[in-house]
Amino acid sequence: MPRYIYKFGAGQADGRSDQALLLGGKGANLAEMASLGVTVPPGFTITTEVSAQFDESGGLPEALRGQVTAALEWMGEATGRRFGNAEDPLLVSVRSGAPVSMPGMMDTILDLGLNDATVEGLARTTGDPRFAYDCYRRFVSMYGEIVMGVKTDDEHGGGESPFDRLLAAKLAELKVDDERELDAAALRALVTQFKIEILRRTSRPFPEEPTAQLWGAIEAVFRSWENPRAEVYRRMHGIDRSLGTAVTVQAMVFGNRGPDSCSGVCFTRNPATGEPGLFGELLWRAQGEDVVAGVRTPEPIESLRNRMPQVYAELVELCQRLEQHFADMQDVEFTVEEGHLWMLQTRSGKRSGKAMVRVAVDMVGEGVLDAHGAIERIDPDKLGEVMHSTIDPDSRPQALTKGLPASPGAAIGRVVFSAEQAEEWAKRGDAVILVRTETSPEDIHGMKVASGILTARGGMTSHAAVVARGMGRPCVTAATDLRVDHARERFTVGKVVVAKGDVITLDGSTGEVFLGRATLVPASMSEEFQTLMGWVDEVRRLRVRTNADTPADARTARAFGAEGIGLCRTEHMFFAPERILAVREMILAADEPGRRAALAKILPMQRDDFLEIFRAMDGLPVTIRLLDPPLHEFLPATPQDIASVAADLGKRPDEVAAAVSSLHEQNPMLGHRGCRLAMSYPEIYETQTRAIAEAALLALQAGVAVEPEIMIPFVSTPSELSLLRERVCRVFDKVLADAGVELEYLVGTMIELPRACLVGDRIAEHADFFSFGTNDLTQTVWGLSRDDSGRFLPTYLDSGWLDRDPFVVLDRAGVGALVRIGVEKGRARKTKLKIGICGEHGGEPSSVEFCHVEGFDYVSCSPFRVPIARVAAARAALRGEARGK
Ligand code: PEP
Ligand code: MG
Repeated sequence: MPRYIYKFGAGQADGRSDQALLLGGKGANLAEMASLGVTVPPGFTITTEVSAQFDESGGLPEALRGQVTAALEWMGEATGRRFGNAEDPLLVSVRSGAPVSMPGMMDTILDLGLNDATVEGLARTTGDPRFAYDCYRRFVSMYGEIVMGVKTDDEHGGGESPFDRLLAAKLAELKVDDERELDAAALRALVTQFKIEILRRTSRPFPEEPTAQLWGAIEAVFRSWENPRAEVYRRMHGIDRSLGTAVTVQAMVFGNRGPDSCSGVCFTRNPATGEPGLFGELLWRAQGEDVVAGVRTPEPIESLRNRMPQVYAELVELCQRLEQHFADMQDVEFTVEEGHLWMLQTRSGKRSGKAMVRVAVDMVGEGVLDAHGAIERIDPDKLGEVMHSTIDPDSRPQALTKGLPASPGAAIGRVVFSAEQAEEWAKRGDAVILVRTETSPEDIHGMKVASGILTARGGMTSHAAVVARGMGRPCVTAATDLRVDHARERFTVGKVVVAKGDVITLDGSTGEVFLGRATLVPASMSEEFQTLMGWVDEVRRLRVRTNADTPADARTARAFGAEGIGLCRTEHMFFAPERILAVREMILAADEPGRRAALAKILPMQRDDFLEIFRAMDGLPVTIRLLDPPLHEFLPATPQDIASVAADLGKRPDEVAAAVSSLHEQNPMLGHRGCRLAMSYPEIYETQTRAIAEAALLALQAGVAVEPEIMIPFVSTPSELSLLRERVCRVFDKVLADAGVELEYLVGTMIELPRACLVGDRIAEHADFFSFGTNDLTQTVWGLSRDDSGRFLPTYLDSGWLDRDPFVVLDRAGVGALVRIGVEKGRARKTKLKIGICGEHGGEPSSVEFCHVEGFDYVSCSPFRVPIARVAAARAALRGEARGK
């Protein structure tokens, strides 16, 4: 006969903590606690296999009945009380418990087994009729709502439960404020009213028979796996529906038993800071549900120390034992019944990024974990919290809207609508949030001074997202219900109007936007953080570089541990106001000599930039990508801009307008960009190469060690790379030869088009390295515009049509399959081909793991993600080791 039930309690258990898949997290840990000799009320867990069967057939397996009866008998022996006995009844709780923690998403029923007869038995044996009827009214209302389906009544109670309304009416009738002041008679009257309400609303009587109550509750808890909030939670956290929930039936202990009774929850360390010492709260004379539901304001855990020092000491000792045993900070639920401590649940505690780091490092110091264990306890995604300020959860102002969490961190500022305004206001000392429908490269100077950036359009790799992440500016993109009225300098969300100068707060880690000012918790890179990163670097195999376009970004990234630059986007240097004119002159030039004249102006500026970047990265490799975006991105768009450019260039506005329109492309992302520009206008890459080579020479003369790597973007045929490589080398070698200097440099390519992956072997013939540009590769593999995906992708994600945004998490099945082909083909032709990634995925933990597994040499990501990538690389190495890879 299949085994559906695992018992625990009285110092023994059928199950173990590593059986969470079968027993749910709660059931498995209760079993473990029982085996450890921790005082847990006895009970049994019905396995998740039953959940799967229930899901399929809508019923419970026949064999379960006998097993439940036997287990109840056993509980009776362990507690000295029998279930359903009118003299001294055993009461039980029926709780859900999935393999993955889903706090509050499913249902729980307490005090089950009470009826008009057993309540009297409970009153007699405890000598406390008030307590007995308090349990009874709680049970009837819970049962009515959860098992019998009594709904909240919007018409009469504003969403309040009818039982709460009856309770409130009783309090009013008796002119008391607190339910604890209701006596047994009042509570008994409430029970009767509750039962009438159930009959009236469901046309079924409340079941008096305890066994019928139990089966009703077991089925209801299994059913709650399918309730809408559990469904939404599973989707949000990628939890597989087929896992199912377990159901735990456990003897009740009573925190509402009398003045020496309480229920509480506590963390074994402070979950916000990681500081050692119990951190929690409790309610005297209350059941656990009251603490969670926030019926009354709980008291700090110290109140237990003051009133019952011995019980408190016992709790501290048990918490330490559990922490040591599970080698992690625990979140426990306990009940004290008339001075006797019972543990009801333990699980690994949710914590802030700061606490995560501190707890892991402290536990190594305490000998509970080793360095590898500490790394395994780090969620790389949460590290961002350590490096960016966050919003104090207690100070969240009115929510305004939500977009994509494009660049983490929290920011507060006055709303401005143009880069110029941002600069002007920032200059006079105002913190500003730059709000745009979408940003363009020309907004960079405004983005630089803004505290945060908010756009109505875009996606996770659109311009605003990529640039903000690079600068470490909090940014929310694709806030699609935001209507930006640039002309009137205001935006609206529904009926709310936000004008220039109004203060908003945004959270780039969650995508939330608030009206008004929140309190921020500043970033703190603690000593523990540095210690942890030291361990991380010993473990990882992947190198971690950064995407940086300016010396300042390069220095930030180096401070975060970057081991080189994997992508320097040269075009980002072209937008400074004093440069854009020369760039426009180059684009609008009628012929090659005209272009060369303009490029000659650009060359010294680029040379200075590269020199500063080489200095910042002294001794580390620097990959500089030659010009990539379509030329029209640099051109003036509005009539005013055209007129001013024409004036600057000494041309007529209609001439400039004609040139601009002749450069217009229907689909610029797939048009005349990347190396295709250089195929048409060789002088652009020649000038950039000269600037790099001359900067390298100057750096060498200044005693700086340089390792230049020149990268050609958007290659799709081997012939493009072969030709461009030859031109680059010719210029570079000539500069070196003229100076009589020898210097090693590399020439490689981005692999960001599907075709480049498929002909990777032939491209590798001309490349010293491949750097996968997974932003464009995702765009082209999916046929999904980077800049427009924000309009509809969120619906795909919210509706569960797609698990992950492929611009955020590398799509292993599609994009990943092509990357693998590219790597295999490239290395088949050149065994030592250096391989990296510089798309935004290079800083995303699961994508970093993919790169580790595929044998990449490095990942490259924005400066603030460097520590995240380092941790992700170490975790991937540890997981690989564990799998024997
Ligand atoms: C890419 O396409 O992945 C990339 C890094 O280049 P960009 O984002 O500049 O197009
Ligand atoms: Mg690209």
